[in-house]
Amino acid sequence: MADKLSPQTHAIRGQMPRTEFQEHSTPLFLTSSFTFDSAESMAATFRGEEDNIIYSRYNNPNVDELIAKACALEGMEAGFATGSGMAAVFASLAALVQQGDHIVATRALFGSTHQILTQILPKWGVTFTYVEPDDPDTWSAAVRANTVLFVTETPSNPGLKLVDLAKAGEFCRAHELIYVVDNCFATPVIQRPGEFGADLVTHSATKWMDGQGRVLGGLLLGSRRVMEKITFFCRHTGPAMSPFNAWVISKSLETLHVRLAAHCKAALELAEWLTEQRGVAKVFYPFLPSHPQYELAKRQMSAGGGIVTFELTGGIDAANRLLNNAQVCTRSSNLGDTRTILTHPATTTHAKLTVAERASVGITDGLVRMSVGLEAVQDLKNDLSRGL
Ligand SMILES: *Cc1c(COP(=O)(O)O)cnc(C)c1O
Repeated sequence: MADKLSPQTHAIRGQMPRTEFQEHSTPLFLTSSFTFDSAESMAATFRGEEDNIIYSRYNNPNVDELIAKACALEGMEAGFATGSGMAAVFASLAALVQQGDHIVATRALFGSTHQILTQILPKWGVTFTYVEPDDPDTWSAAVRANTVLFVTETPSNPGLKLVDLAKAGEFCRAHELIYVVDNCFATPVIQRPGEFGADLVTHSATKWMDGQGRVLGGLLLGSRRVMEKITFFCRHTGPAMSPFNAWVISKSLETLHVRLAAHCKAALELAEWLTEQRGVAKVFYPFLPSHPQYELAKRQMSAGGGIVTFELTGGIDAANRLLNNAQVCTRSSNLGDTRTILTHPATTTHAKLTVAERASVGITDGLVRMSVGLEAVQDLKNDLSRGL
């Protein structure tokens, strides 16, 4: 029966086996380790012949519940939960490459992912080449004999460029590359890369999945074959998610579908409204017909997501005015919260990039990223009007 349930119902009804107390809502298992009925059972568990929980660096009931729900949402076979999104991204790369391997990645990746590719993996002789997210015909030229991974993120942060997931799937099959997607911005409610052939999906569960700005978390979800390597890497290097964070995020997944529907509805309304405001040069939102990849967005996403970016004609001064005059929206670098957040990428999240690097991913001085929350939309319009 459970197999026939929709992902939404899985996210609400998925639950670890009830304890003797017959609790309705999942209890919290704050314990580092677990015990065994007998020495023989303990030995069999360590041999992998019995399926018992050993130690919370390996697994934990709360963490396992979260993984099971996330796998149902993404349509993936297996998963591992990490302490942050970056731990998941790092594991997705480090567990799957050897010294001398090469990675093809789409430009405009999350800032810390860019730092791993440019500053950390080269220490172990792993190199990479950036390709243009919106020009898949050029990707093959970047593939070398030692290329093993294709890494991408769509929509991208903060420019909201899209990558054609179906074409990426064909590309990875043609070159026998492992296909990895950071699906944080869309969430599985809006887009499921596994349906386009992705072998592995990563998430910062800190964002829309928790959705209330409380805890950090990351997820790796993929095919059994890829997850075997990832799980070995994570069990022995120790990026495990805390049971408490897993308990919080698992509860949050029960409302993921309704929250995302409301975030997306408000984001589209604000994106349309912003296009009509003076001082706003451009608005980027995947479900605005003016988005250069609107047709693609409609093909691979069921809604436009909760992030809207826009460019102010007045550059940094105009951006500062907007952020400083906000009384409802918050100035913060996070995203995916019930509370609307304004970020100025050029001076904060992407300040470490050179001007040329920023330009190559579409980050101008006047660009503002808005993570649309769940407040009344009219209050948000009034708030933005104060600083525009
Ligand atoms: C936030 C974010 C990450 C990193 O996640 P943390 O939980 O902050 O470590 C990775 N990728 C994307 C797209 C993100 O937005």
